[in-house]
Amino acid sequence: MKDSIYKCPCCGEKTFTPLTKALAGQLNSKGRPCPKCGERIANGKGATIFNAVFCFAMFAFIVYAFLNTLDLWIIPALLAIIFVPRIVNAFFFKLDVSQRKNGF
Ligand SMILES: [Zn+2]
Repeated sequence: MKDSIYKCPCCGEKTFTPLTKALAGQLNSKGRPCPKCGERIANGKGATIFNAVFCFAMFAFIVYAFLNTLDLWIIPALLAIIFVPRIVNAFFFKLDVSQRKNGF
């Protein structure tokens, strides 16, 4: 089913939308409580790995741009770090229960 990435992994209800999924963060974040069962839900392993790889690549690119005085590219690269993972989270990868406990 094509909507399955918006299903809560805990109660199985389709309680997330592209927007709330984008804001749910990664597995290492607190996530977002499911409106139905209250479990804290975040984007799963695939999204977390993508985010780490993407941020690392962009960071390497920024260092490269900085060293080669390609300053024009630094701002777009920073914006990409902020927005691309959210857009990817909104439309790709499955949700998972957040691994981070309350209180952090
Ligand atoms: Zn739920």
